[in-house]
Amino acid sequence: MRIPMIVGNWKMNKTADSVESFVNGIRGNLPNAMQLETAICAPALFLEQMVDQARDMPLEVGAENCYFEDNGPFTGETSPYALSKAGVDFVILGHSERRKIFRETDEMINLKVQAVFRNHMRPIICCDETMGQRESNDAVHWVVAQVIEALKGVDEEQARTAIIAYEPSWAIGVGTPASPDQIEEGCYLIRQTVADVYDDEIADEVRVLYGGSVKPANINTIMQKQDVDGVLVGNASLQPESFLELISNDP
Ligand code: PGA
Repeated sequence: MRIPMIVGNWKMNKTADSVESFVNGIRGNLPNAMQLETAICAPALFLEQMVDQARDMPLEVGAENCYFEDNGPFTGETSPYALSKAGVDFVILGHSERRKIFRETDEMINLKVQAVFRNHMRPIICCDETMGQRESNDAVHWVVAQVIEALKGVDEEQARTAIIAYEPSWAIGVGTPASPDQIEEGCYLIRQTVADVYDDEIADEVRVLYGGSVKPANINTIMQKQDVDGVLVGNASLQPESFLELISNDP
């Protein structure tokens, strides 16, 4: 049985003060992690603070990106080694904003996936698709290729613990998610690709998330889909009230 997950992606938002009030706002209200895993991925600047504040809570902490070398002359980058030492559990990799705005390639994302595993953390690998690709029937090829490229050089034991998110870029930040059938189609495709690269048993263990305009009003319908193990949430994860609403909407 795959434990469902709700992961917040704060993107480039928050200050130290608002991080503190968020964590205090959800304290005492999180579910048992054996029933529902909850995590927040925050800007690197706040990760140590979050790990420290959430120490006694069933809340995992993730970064939103990292570099693929452990340390060295890479001005302005975040070391996966340092993240791991700071107690970070996850790193989001390959988000469509990183692919599009910061021109990250599949090859770069794959090196980062390997760096995250090497440093004993777990990647949340995002696969996107544009509306143009969907309309020209190219989306399937695109999603499959991103999964295959991201997992190159990842061994079976590591692959079991990977988290992969289907995040069509046309549904991110717009208020309307993909339809439940489109969501299931994307998540199923990701799981099938993992089965093709490894085997059915590993595909059965990998957690597949959906992301794109998830909010308290639509999370239930999305989480009910068979291949959806959880959600990656931007806007609706920023306020403690809304985050608590998301996790209380038990499917
Ligand atoms: P959104 O963002 O929930 O604000 O659409 C999701 C994401 O980019 O991960």
